[in-house]
Amino acid sequence: MSDACLFCRIVDGDIPATIVYEDDLVVAFEDVNPQAPTHVLVVPRRHIPTINDLGTEDETLAGHLLTTAAAIARERGFDAAGYRTVLNCNAAGGQTVFHIHLHLLGGRNLSWPPG
Ligand code: AMP
Ligand code: ZN
Repeated sequence: MSDACLFCRIVDGDIPATIVYEDDLVVAFEDVNPQAPTHVLVVPRRHIPTINDLGTEDETLAGHLLTTAAAIARERGFDAAGYRTVLNCNAAGGQTVFHIHLHLLGGRNLSWPPG
């Protein structure tokens, strides 16, 4: 836990968020600036700044970010239609919050490539 980290503070309940799922490993909450009808962030409870900081011991956790996103997509009924998951890394990747978060975007047609 890092006091300075926004997403650690959400995980700890110090800053409010609309939490849609949580378990021992991850917390999922609504993005405050949604880019699609569903825009949920899935974050590990543990503070990990970027995907560069993941070790092989974190492979179960990293996979759990994806299976959690897929479960939310299924629950919201757009799994078959399709959706996008995104993990931005560092400046060139557009990362602004340095606590790993998987974006789940769904509920509309998404264009490719991204900007
Ligand atoms: P990224 O650019 O990949 O680091 O994404 C950061 C995301 O966090 C953006 O989509 C923001 O809209 C979102 N965000 C920032 N502050 C909050 C917050 N307090 N609650 C929920 N989402 C947030
Ligand atoms: Zn953190």
